[in-house]
Amino acid sequence: MSTQMAQLLPEVQSFLAESPLRSFIGGEWVAADETLATLDPATGQPVARFCVMSAAEVDRAVAAAAQAFGPGGWGRLPANERGALLHRLADTVERHLPALAQLEALDCGKLVPHATGDIQNFVATLRYFTDLAQQVPSRHVIPVAHHEAWSVRHPWGPCGFIFPWNFPFLLLGWGTAPALAAGNTVVVKPAEDTPLSSLYLGRLAQEAGIPDGVINVVAGPGETTGAALSRHPGLRRMSFTGSPEVGRQVAEAAGRNLTPVKLELGGKGAALVFDDVDVDDTTTRLAGAITFHSGQVCCDATRWIVHERIYDEFVAQVRAKMAAVRVGLTFDAESQMGPVVSEKQRQRVLGYLERGVAEGASLVLEGGACRVNGGEAGFYVKPALLAGGLDNVAAREEIFGPVAFLARFGSEEEGVALVNRTRYGLANSVWSADLARAQRVAESMVAGNSWVNAHNVFPLGVPYGGVNLSGMGGGVNSPETLYDYYRSQSVVRPL
Ligand code: NAD
Repeated sequence: MSTQMAQLLPEVQSFLAESPLRSFIGGEWVAADETLATLDPATGQPVARFCVMSAAEVDRAVAAAAQAFGPGGWGRLPANERGALLHRLADTVERHLPALAQLEALDCGKLVPHATGDIQNFVATLRYFTDLAQQVPSRHVIPVAHHEAWSVRHPWGPCGFIFPWNFPFLLLGWGTAPALAAGNTVVVKPAEDTPLSSLYLGRLAQEAGIPDGVINVVAGPGETTGAALSRHPGLRRMSFTGSPEVGRQVAEAAGRNLTPVKLELGGKGAALVFDDVDVDDTTTRLAGAITFHSGQVCCDATRWIVHERIYDEFVAQVRAKMAAVRVGLTFDAESQMGPVVSEKQRQRVLGYLERGVAEGASLVLEGGACRVNGGEAGFYVKPALLAGGLDNVAAREEIFGPVAFLARFGSEEEGVALVNRTRYGLANSVWSADLARAQRVAESMVAGNSWVNAHNVFPLGVPYGGVNLSGMGGGVNSPETLYDYYRSQSVVRPL
């Protein structure tokens, strides 16, 4: 058992004592003979075991979601009644926030304040879409000559969701809140490294009085449980957040059923830093962004392309700031950066450092494995900085760790061309005191999102999503996301 568990709230301890944790299907808690362990990344020690759902149980979950949808079910509830229930769910999550934050910190290796922010974000997202859905007219009259015509919006039915391990609860909110608010029912498969907070949501859904079958959670590995969900013909929409490699498989499987798919995938974002910035402020913010959640953030700036006139000063300052980051246990208030999620992920980060250097990059800040007192078997790495040509493997591929790759540029055109030299297209930032230039550059960088003098910014209402290798399907967090979860039907009567 993880040594951090002594600090857990009684509510969390009693939940974990139910190990092996069951999945939540049609309002019932479903066990299985096969179980897997989930570890505390800060100590490398087990937290709990959970039951693995087979294809038959996934089938049962989709059937439960279909049953709960209608007729006379969730999909037919007036929007205000659905809204009242979803607000009650948001209230319930808020009431249990400290417990959820501990579970999330323990399961995915987040610092507790960051995990707390993720749960608050879930609540805000759920409230945003719940309120927005009240304003969506279900009928829209279409003025055409010699006809009476209108269109009607209906929810689709059961929707599938597969999530990664880096922001389990926050992404659960980004994904499912618009679907539920529009009147769809959901089947969620969390990542096998981080199932705890999603399973806990099942409890909270029951406590809030969400009807059985509206929210279903099936835990298990991607290759079995995830694959069974993505190929299920009973789903009306499929949403996947994760790597491009698996995204392609999920899209293929859902495509065979002609189920529309939304893909929110990885990235290799850039920060383009001009020579008129406040170097102290910019280096503080970029060092903060790349070490936040140990760099396991899809939209992070991982290529720092810095104007040649300030390059040396920038590198000296950012190197010192990253070297000073205190790596520590997730429940230790002094820690500034925790572990990565697993030994596999740690080896991935270390492997990219090795391969990057082998391909000619220089190590500006060494990084490497890191030992933490009380977490000797935890999955720690130190922040690292590489520099060199952007055709290096560590500058081309997503590492998903606290590693940035430095390069220099001279002209604006060269800078933009370097940013766009990638197959990904999730998020970039431009840093300059000249706002006219910043606007021009922001619009020339090819990605779903451009940020000005900031990185990782997600106000609700602004669409967030990827293009090219970073995804398709419109993204999350905006009115467009909500509209995705309605199907439109036209009705026409010749006059
Ligand atoms: P992953 O693709 O390995 O796994 C994601 C999910 O897919 C997990 O639940 C996994 O169990 C499941 N899965 C694996 N194989 C499957 C299969 N054959 N069929 C169906 N499901 C399967 O990704 P990860 O390592 O968990 O997460 C990291 C990736 O997620 C990074 O690429 C990151 O950039 C991306 N990400 C993107 C966003 C975004 O909003 N664009 C947000 C967070 C993470």
